[in-house]
Amino acid sequence: MSSNGQARWDSIAVLLETSMFESLIAGSLPKPAWLAETQKLWPQWKAQGDELLQAKRDATLLWVKLQEDAGLDIIGDGEQARQHFVHGFLEQVEGIDFEHKVTMGIRDGRYDAQVPQVVAPLKLKGRVHALEAQLLRAHTKKKIKFTLPGPMTIVDTVADRFYGSKVDMAMAFADLLNQEARALQADGVDIIQFDEPAFNVYLKDAATWGVQALERAAKGLTCTTAVHICYGYGIKANLDWKETLGQEWRQYEAIFPAIAASSIQQVSLECYHSHVPPHLMALLAGKDVMVGVIDVASDVVETPEQVADTIGQALQYVPKQRLFPCTNCGMAPMNRDIALAKLQALAAGAALARARHG
Ligand SMILES: [Zn+2]
Repeated sequence: MSSNGQARWDSIAVLLETSMFESLIAGSLPKPAWLAETQKLWPQWKAQGDELLQAKRDATLLWVKLQEDAGLDIIGDGEQARQHFVHGFLEQVEGIDFEHKVTMGIRDGRYDAQVPQVVAPLKLKGRVHALEAQLLRAHTKKKIKFTLPGPMTIVDTVADRFYGSKVDMAMAFADLLNQEARALQADGVDIIQFDEPAFNVYLKDAATWGVQALERAAKGLTCTTAVHICYGYGIKANLDWKETLGQEWRQYEAIFPAIAASSIQQVSLECYHSHVPPHLMALLAGKDVMVGVIDVASDVVETPEQVADTIGQALQYVPKQRLFPCTNCGMAPMNRDIALAKLQALAAGAALARARHG
C-alpha cells in the first residue's frame, strides 16, 4: 500500500475507534471553591448577581476544558450553574412558592429535605439553561449532553398544594421540561438526558406513568434522548439505603422493560461496584446504554484496567456500538481532584477497551 493509502486507512481506523465506547459523565461535577461551598449537595453560592453569573460561566468553561483534556468524547456542563439538579430547573418555574419551604421525606422517606411548594398552575418564566447550553456549544466541537431532572423525580422533590394528583403534576412538569428541551435542542445540544433516580424507588409507578411522563417531556425531540437511573449520589443516606437493598439490586428489572418499550433512546445506569446483576442490561435491547464504570461513592480512583474490565463485562449484554462508558452518577459532592482523576481514568479505560475490543 502506498504511504498515502496507509495514511488514509489509519485515519479511517482512528475514526472507527473513536466512534466506539464514547465516554462521558452522568451529569454533575464538583463546583470550584470560588463558586460555591465544596463537597455539599445543596451548596451556598459564594457570590451574587452578575458576579455569580460570571463565576458560573467561568466554572462551566473550566470543566469543558478539563473534560476535553481528560479525553472524554461527549462533554457536559457539569451542572455548574445550578445549586441542585432538581431545584436548578424549579427556580425558573412560576407557580412554586420558594419562600415557604416544608420538610418532606423524599425518595420514599430515605431522607428529609426542605422542599418548595407547588401552589398554582405551573409555567416557565423563560429559558432555564440557555446560558450553560450556549456556552457549552460555543466552546467545544465535541458532542454535548445536557441534563434535566425527570418529571417523576421533580414530583418527588416538591410538595403539592395545588394539583392534588402526582400524575397530573408530573404531566404538567413534563410539558415545561419539553419546552426547555426543545430550546436546548435549538441551542445545539446533541443529547438531552432526564435524570430519574426516583424510578429506582417507585418501581410500579415508574413503569407506568413515570415512563409516560418521561416520553411526554421528550416529545418531538429530534436530538438523542436519554434517561439516567441510579442509586443516588455517594452521600451517607444513600449508602445506608443501599445497605438495605440486599445482595442483588434488581430494581432495574421492574422498570427496564417499560423503558425498552418507550421512545427514549439511551439509558444511563449504575454498574461498577453496584450490586446490580449485569445481565439486567440485556433487558435494554435496542437502546444505547451508558454503563457506569466509575464509582462516585468511593474516593478510590479506578485504574484504566478496571474501567476496561467493566466495559468488557458489560459487552456480554450490550453490543459494542451501543455501549457508552460513563460515571455511575453525578460527582457534585466529590473532592474536585479526585473527580478529575476519575475522569482521566474513565477516558483512559475507554481507550484501553477500544484497543482490546476494536
Ligand atoms: Zn444519578
